[in-house]
Amino acid sequence: MTTHDWTQAGFSTRTIHAGQDPDPTTGAVVPPVYLTSTYKQDGVGGLRGGYEYSRSANPTRTALETALASAEGGTHGFAFASGLAAEDTLLRAVLRPGDHVILPDDAYGGSYRLIARVFGAWGVEHTAVDLTDLDAVAAAVRPGITQVVWVETPTNPLLGISDVVALAGVAHDAGALLVVDNTFATPYLQTPLALGADVVVHSTTKYVGGHSDVVGGALVVGGAALPGGRTAPDGTGDVAGALRFHQNASGAVADPFAAWLTLRGLKTLAVRMDRHQANALAVATFLEAHPRVTRVLYPGLPSHPGHELAARQMRGFGGMLSFQVGSEQAALDVVARAQVFTLAESLGGVESLIEHPGRMTHASVAGSSLEVPADLVRVSVGIEDVDDLVADLANALEGTA
Ligand SMILES: *Cc1c(COP(=O)(O)O)cnc(C)c1O
Repeated sequence: MTTHDWTQAGFSTRTIHAGQDPDPTTGAVVPPVYLTSTYKQDGVGGLRGGYEYSRSANPTRTALETALASAEGGTHGFAFASGLAAEDTLLRAVLRPGDHVILPDDAYGGSYRLIARVFGAWGVEHTAVDLTDLDAVAAAVRPGITQVVWVETPTNPLLGISDVVALAGVAHDAGALLVVDNTFATPYLQTPLALGADVVVHSTTKYVGGHSDVVGGALVVGGAALPGGRTAPDGTGDVAGALRFHQNASGAVADPFAAWLTLRGLKTLAVRMDRHQANALAVATFLEAHPRVTRVLYPGLPSHPGHELAARQMRGFGGMLSFQVGSEQAALDVVARAQVFTLAESLGGVESLIEHPGRMTHASVAGSSLEVPADLVRVSVGIEDVDDLVADLANALEGTA
């Protein structure tokens, strides 16, 4: 069966169709959930479509991996049980003891914990740097020893914007890979591989899944070689081959139902992001004018220090924003009083969420260079009616300390 080539199609056409040809046997329009662990062989080694055992490959996961690769403009996608499982597999595939990693000084706390505490114990060193300061990044790079420059843009929870093109130059000059965690922006708004990145990381738990009902992660790559002329244990020298080996060798794969739910979410990513960001801009504009709010961090506001860079490297400003309210007590009051915004960790679902990073998502980085302001409130602006969202925050801010 010949499959259509979707590479020239627009973003939504690709997320809806790439890797998702109707089932050849039944015509099923949606790729089925292949709840099978193994596959009948037509004689020893006679695999149908390459399927042998579902840790190695499963058709539902293949559909998701193909669609994600297409969405990011990469050549290969890999789906995992969580965003951190994806990160763990990537770092194991690329790093060796004695290597050095640069990561943002406001990285996602779980990424920081993985690099600093898990890989740190295996002899990998790291430096947390303000990635908006290119001189500081260049000064922190150790040529030949730094193998990964890890980028998040926008960052969580401070919405910092860093220059992917410039950072790719710094990383590549030192022989390192540039890895971009694209969870906040999504491929609809930002495609790091086209900006020079080597690997894109996603927590598909967030916008890609989009409905707060599934945990997952993904890696997408182009044709990058492993740093330092390395090869994977199976002899392949490119990142894609190394990831294929490690995904199977350590096995933290997305299960078929999680893959199916994530693919279902991916199909509507573009329309959801359009609404997320329209609502976020309205909420940010409201908050910026509010007397009890001391600062609003949203890249779509001209007051944001990364606004111009974001306008250049992104196709929109996304649905996440943070704001400061002067004291920790006021921040705790706001998150407790909100009703349409649900008090919860995570982000990127259709429903609006609100949280206190200092005590919740970023509690694990307290006391480190990644500590966040105590009066900070983070919101994931959902796709509800924007008037209800603004009214809820107006009410929550009323009477705060
Ligand atoms: C949630 C998140 C992760 C981790 O993903 P999980 O699916 O929770 O393992 C990584 N990076 C960012 C930016 C995230 O928001």
